[in-house]
Amino acid sequence: MNASHTLTPRQAARDTLRAYFGGAPTRYPIDPVAVARSLGVNVYQSPLPNSTSGMIARTHVDGGTDILVNTEHAPKRQRFTVAHELGHYTAIVNDPARAEAPFVHKRDSLSSCGTNSEEIFANQFAAELLMPEDEVTRARRVGASALSLASQFDVSLDAMNFRLANLRLA
Ligand SMILES: [Zn+2]
Repeated sequence: MNASHTLTPRQAARDTLRAYFGGAPTRYPIDPVAVARSLGVNVYQSPLPNSTSGMIARTHVDGGTDILVNTEHAPKRQRFTVAHELGHYTAIVNDPARAEAPFVHKRDSLSSCGTNSEEIFANQFAAELLMPEDEVTRARRVGASALSLASQFDVSLDAMNFRLANLRLA
């Protein structure tokens, strides 16, 4: 067991947003690149293979952490990818056993299947960071359509429909 199992992705995302806005009201849509940079994580657009949405790496123990995002992919998909990679980063830095060690995570066709716990954590973190449960629920209850919510939170309609289904708000 390690500490990342005790920190839920939802709580990790909420903590991240609270720290980013420093007590000021949360403003939407969230800019995941700005959030990453506020944590000292570099974000670069890169011509990655089409099957790879992005990756995050810290190659040296005392080096910086870099997120690469596929520059060929749609902007909304890039936003979700950066948020996903930030989920990996958050899990790692909150785990004393891994906080200082080098690591690499790649997001490709395999990881979107959500088959391992690391990927599930990163996907749930990304969903909560970009489409916070409380705000989506509040908007939905007063009648916002999936399309208007997708626009408000700057995510794809597919991503918002998936989020609404997971929150039982579809
Ligand atoms: Zn991943």
